[in-house]
Amino acid sequence: MTERTVHLVEVAPRDGLQNEKTPLSTDAKIAFVDRIIDTGVRRIEVTSFVNPQRVPQMADAEAVLAGITRRPDVSLIGLVLNRRGLDRALAAELDEINLVVVASDTFSRRNQGMGTLESLAALGETIADARAAGLFCGVTIGASFGCPFEGEVPTRRIVEVVQRVADHGIDEIALADTIGVASPKDVVDRFDAIRPLLPQTRLRCHFHNTRNTGLANAYAAIGCGVTAIDASIGGIGGCPFAPAATGNIPTEDLVYMLQRMGHLQDIAVDRVLETARWLESALGRPVPAMLGRAGLFPPRGAPAV
Ligand code: ZN
Repeated sequence: MTERTVHLVEVAPRDGLQNEKTPLSTDAKIAFVDRIIDTGVRRIEVTSFVNPQRVPQMADAEAVLAGITRRPDVSLIGLVLNRRGLDRALAAELDEINLVVVASDTFSRRNQGMGTLESLAALGETIADARAAGLFCGVTIGASFGCPFEGEVPTRRIVEVVQRVADHGIDEIALADTIGVASPKDVVDRFDAIRPLLPQTRLRCHFHNTRNTGLANAYAAIGCGVTAIDASIGGIGGCPFAPAATGNIPTEDLVYMLQRMGHLQDIAVDRVLETARWLESALGRPVPAMLGRAGLFPPRGAPAV
């Protein structure tokens, strides 16, 4: 993969399903991930190793990982909040971990039980242990564009947090718009500000489409040198701790846009659409993505003119 190649990280099994009131069965989750692998997506955030009392939808993390058909060219990611989560991730033989720091103190306390600085201090040891075990190690900065409790989160706050994360040495850093408030200008401001702090670190973005700015933000992020874009099949998702947050950028809508721009040619968009239809029947409701309603263009199988 060249540095400027853009790829997609499928997060529906984690960020999407963690918000479902009625969790999918373990077998359905395994079938979902196997279907995602069949679309050609090569990085998948499968689950999170968090307290099952706080996020019961992810309580079967180990069983899901044990059931997925592993492939050497597919990287499975688990979200980890602390040392205990790392131990579970190591035992489950994941390829990558994604650690989370929340940029605003109030949200951080609600999400992780401690303020931002305290969670940054605790992070150092977990990162060192993960790297020593040979895991690809990413950090996501939650609420990078706004906080549901504190409001605006300025770029200088993100710079402060990223500076401290950079000290620990990581492979990738993601800015997350957890509540879907960012505009493309906010995206450019923050990535331009943090890029000089982490010249060797890959950049990733995680946008929620709550105010319909997700695809515009993804386009802006690519212009800033971001190489990994999180997306969720069907656009499902939310955050149990962020009131009114809705799903991520829909995978099929992002793939459609980026394939028309010459990226992501290795993903079979028709299989993504099939998987979204499967997901609709598994969840018992329509998904918010738009490509499944409008159809592909040009239509497949249409007569040549
Ligand atoms: Zn999210």
